[in-house]
Amino acid sequence: MNNRTEPTSLQTSQRQGLGVRGRPRARRAYVLLGLIFLVLFAAEGWREWTSRQTQLQEVQTASANLAHSLLQEAEGAVAAADAALVAIVGFLELEGTEPAALTRLSSLLVAASANQPQLRGFSVDGRNGMRLISSVPNQTLGVSNASRDYFRHHREDPDRGPLIGPPTQSRRQGYWVITISRRFQDRDGRFAGTVVTSITSATIAGTYAAFDMGREGSIALLHTNGMIMSRYPFDEAVISRILPAVPALLELAASEPAGHYNSVSAIDGVARLGSYQRSERFPLLVIVSSGTSEALAAWVHGAWFRVAAVLAVSCVIVLLGVRLIAQIQRRRQAELVLAESEAEFRMLAEHASDMVSRVGTDGVWRYASPAATRLLGVDPAELVGRRPEDHIHPEDRPEFEALVACLSFGQEQGGLIYRANRTDRSEIWVESTLRLVRDPQTGAPNGYVGISRDVTVSKELETKLAALATTDGLTGIANRRRFDDDLLTEWRRAARDGTSIALLLLDVDHFKAFNDRYGHPAGDECLRSVASSIAATIRRPGDKAARYGGEEFAVILPATDLVGALDVAERVRGAIEALSLRHEGNGTGVVTVSIGVAGTVPSPLVPIETSALIKASDEALYQAKHTGRNRVVVAPFVQAGPLIIDRLVP
Ligand code: GH3
Ligand code: MG
Ligand code: MG
Repeated sequence: MNNRTEPTSLQTSQRQGLGVRGRPRARRAYVLLGLIFLVLFAAEGWREWTSRQTQLQEVQTASANLAHSLLQEAEGAVAAADAALVAIVGFLELEGTEPAALTRLSSLLVAASANQPQLRGFSVDGRNGMRLISSVPNQTLGVSNASRDYFRHHREDPDRGPLIGPPTQSRRQGYWVITISRRFQDRDGRFAGTVVTSITSATIAGTYAAFDMGREGSIALLHTNGMIMSRYPFDEAVISRILPAVPALLELAASEPAGHYNSVSAIDGVARLGSYQRSERFPLLVIVSSGTSEALAAWVHGAWFRVAAVLAVSCVIVLLGVRLIAQIQRRRQAELVLAESEAEFRMLAEHASDMVSRVGTDGVWRYASPAATRLLGVDPAELVGRRPEDHIHPEDRPEFEALVACLSFGQEQGGLIYRANRTDRSEIWVESTLRLVRDPQTGAPNGYVGISRDVTVSKELETKLAALATTDGLTGIANRRRFDDDLLTEWRRAARDGTSIALLLLDVDHFKAFNDRYGHPAGDECLRSVASSIAATIRRPGDKAARYGGEEFAVILPATDLVGALDVAERVRGAIEALSLRHEGNGTGVVTVSIGVAGTVPSPLVPIETSALIKASDEALYQAKHTGRNRVVVAPFVQAGPLIIDRLVP
């Protein structure tokens, strides 16, 4: 009983599964999908970030290299100028500033100027600042330069190194120059004057123009006091200025001679990144910078494209994932519904009082429901592998096999009632409805499903009813309907076999008078006695007695000729007389019967009918009545009329 309730509990848990387990699983799958999306996106983001950093690093490395080489170039230019200054200082300290020495020096200065065209000549100022000599064209000698910064510096500072002056604007030509100067001394080591040369900012910036720094890039040469000495792109407005960002950079450069920086330019508001390089020999600093957005332009373009591609691919993956999850969910739900309905059907089969069974194409049981125990007295598991025919009465097997054959040829359904043997050897009537099962894929017949039930009780009832319908209620022998059927059956058999058939028609003599005298119930009792007597007298199994109507009886005697029939009739008549049932209204004083006998041999060729035999025996009975009653009269042999054939050839 427990195992039969299992499908219900299974069903419940499946219902719960649909609601409780199915959705969280889907939610987890969606979360996983979201994570995949995030991871893909994060990975791409990380990649792009790294590539951006690499790009910036590359730009800064390039700017550092450029700053280094430009500084070397600037140092070279200053060093070359300084070397000339050193030579001039050496001459002055050796030869002094006497007019003769200065005359000799003059030709030396012209040669040095010709040798270094980037320099704007050399000038020598005396102890009091008076210009003593100059290779600069159109220079006025005797003018005092004592107020000049470089002169005052050298006069005050005994340092014999070169002084790189801040950018100053040429008084006459108006362009910006950078002065390089040295002090010279007399033999006593006292300050004796200065030697100075200068180089234009534009000259240095001109070499910078050879480099492609983009629209936002710049190169600047700074004095370590912060003043811009030269800049490319050249902008006169910024020369000699100290820009706001510079002090911080100088502070950085003071500790680290080379490095990178990021800033937003105070000049043009552009964000830049770049490198600086400070000279160890001179107070010079080179800054090379590139526009940050310009440096990243190629990366930004590529990054947008890659991010868009990754986004598109991620979206496709997510969409596919969502569709897949939805599909899996739908399939899961369909499976659950299927399992549920399977469990439902199994439960129905298991609980049905009729046996539900499934037979394969090989005619062998695949499944039988628990009702098999009640129906056939056998465990359903034992039926699996056996054939249904094994349980069917041998006489009913052909009909069953014919039905199965019809199903295998495509007949959808059929039913039959047959006798089945239970394992306890008892026999029951079973009604089975067989329904064809088709292969879901090919549609070909694939065995059948049978629903079988025990119909023994109704079958017996049916037999009883059938018997009742053909039995006379008063006498218990066959009634008129049964007589008609039996006569026709025997008639046909006789015609088939070519045997004779005889009929006795009996009528109780003066029965009306019996009823009148003894009453109807006594009359009924009399009829019962007469019927019993008739039934008892006829002995052959084929002989059939029936109540023909009222107080009339009939006896069918198959395979009996007139002689035999007469014999039987006489015995019946005698037996009834011998009953000695009192009947005052009858001549003999007891109940007697008159019997008319008729006989024939029916032929299939000559179509005479049963009515002819009845009519003949009735006429014989009539004669028996009119010739005194309590007797047997035999009708002449019933003959068919001549066989008249109208035309031989139609
Ligand atoms: P006859 O010798 O010529 O046959 O005379 P009869 O009186 O037997 O003939 P009739 O046909 O005139 O009467 C038949 C009677 O049988 C009439 C009816 O009352 C009686 N009868 C018919 N059926 C039954 C029955 O089932 N029970 C009883 N008690 N009487 C019946
Ligand atoms: Mg009668
Ligand atoms: Mg009668």
